[in-house]
Amino acid sequence: MSTLSLKGLSKKFGDKLVVDNVNLDVIDREFVVLLGPSGCGKTTILRMIAGLEKVTAGEVILDGEVINQMPPQKRDMAMVFQNYALYAHLSVFDNLAFGLRMRKTPKDTIEKRVRESAEMLGIGVHIEKKPRQLSGGERQRVALGRAIVREPRLFLMDEPLSNLDAMLRVQTRVEILQLCRRIGTTVLYVTHDQVEAMTMGDRIVLLRDGVCQQIDTPEGIYNLPANQFVGKFVGSPPMNVLEDVFLSKEGDKLWAKSRGISLDLSGYKHLTAIEQMPELRSRSIILGFRPDALRFNPHGRTDGGIPASVALVEVIGREALVYCNIGQQLICAVVDPAQAPRSGDNVVLGVDASKVHLFESGSGNNLFR
Ligand code: ATP
Repeated sequence: MSTLSLKGLSKKFGDKLVVDNVNLDVIDREFVVLLGPSGCGKTTILRMIAGLEKVTAGEVILDGEVINQMPPQKRDMAMVFQNYALYAHLSVFDNLAFGLRMRKTPKDTIEKRVRESAEMLGIGVHIEKKPRQLSGGERQRVALGRAIVREPRLFLMDEPLSNLDAMLRVQTRVEILQLCRRIGTTVLYVTHDQVEAMTMGDRIVLLRDGVCQQIDTPEGIYNLPANQFVGKFVGSPPMNVLEDVFLSKEGDKLWAKSRGISLDLSGYKHLTAIEQMPELRSRSIILGFRPDALRFNPHGRTDGGIPASVALVEVIGREALVYCNIGQQLICAVVDPAQAPRSGDNVVLGVDASKVHLFESGSGNNLFR
């Protein structure tokens, strides 16, 4: 059993607040991903949990015990980094055994754990080799193995796949997940790669400038983003955004109007709530919709759609990314290649109103979450 809680966790370097009041409860065997752009404080959070960085304010609680003052070696956590940090002069076996020997673990226990972990990771045949004789993927497995043999209460992983090529990254991603499920361990995993976060995390903690934006399942983050930043950070190609939008009720229809564009939002899921908030219609808001919420109006009807000109079409296997200019703005639609228009075509884009998000201007917060 291992649970981890962060309560009001903050970190200052000099006057600069780099982690601001982060609260999180990780349950036993959960795989939680810290996601966010470079410099948002992910590594600093991990280092505070590991005890490598002093906490400025707040508490790190492991299995119910506040461990702020506990030295790193007593915390029983294993950290895996981007640079594998293997000992070049030691064999794979000795690299795996190193931490256990330091802890004066009995020799036969070391032998058993090292061999078992090496087999589990598929590096059993390399046990006598030196790190330089291994591929990048194999070295990363040794780094993982070194963490596993310690049987820690918590795994902390900091961008462990960044040094691998794209193919190997996908493969190792699956392996890490399977491994963590098999050994039933609690994991905190840092990445700036939203695909990695979406595919690996039971839950994602999305950070920006040290502030937690949303803690949710991958589906929750994707389908109900807390704010415009989350909406745009997760999903590829990113969410399209129209600013300076005004809502207007005409008869039984709701329209979103912006710079000569009128979009029929009558299928929007929070229509009733909007009707009860007439003040919403007097201020500008932000409209977000993902590329897959767009379709091309086959009949060329402009009412309720957006007239646009096609700037570029990229066919990527089963999907076509169609980049369209609406006035000065470029938006992207994802469609079936068979239905894609051609570059230079004038088209009318329809938006599936049930997939639209409305954000508040200024704060960027999702108005209906
Ligand atoms: P990346 O994805 O690039 O690794 P990150 O989200 O992990 O970024 P951190 O490494 O936690 O971000 O850094 C957060 C902020 O704290 C950054 O602005 C960084 O420059 C700053 N920072 C980190 N370590 C120190 C330090 N020892 N002294 C001063 N500032 C630091």
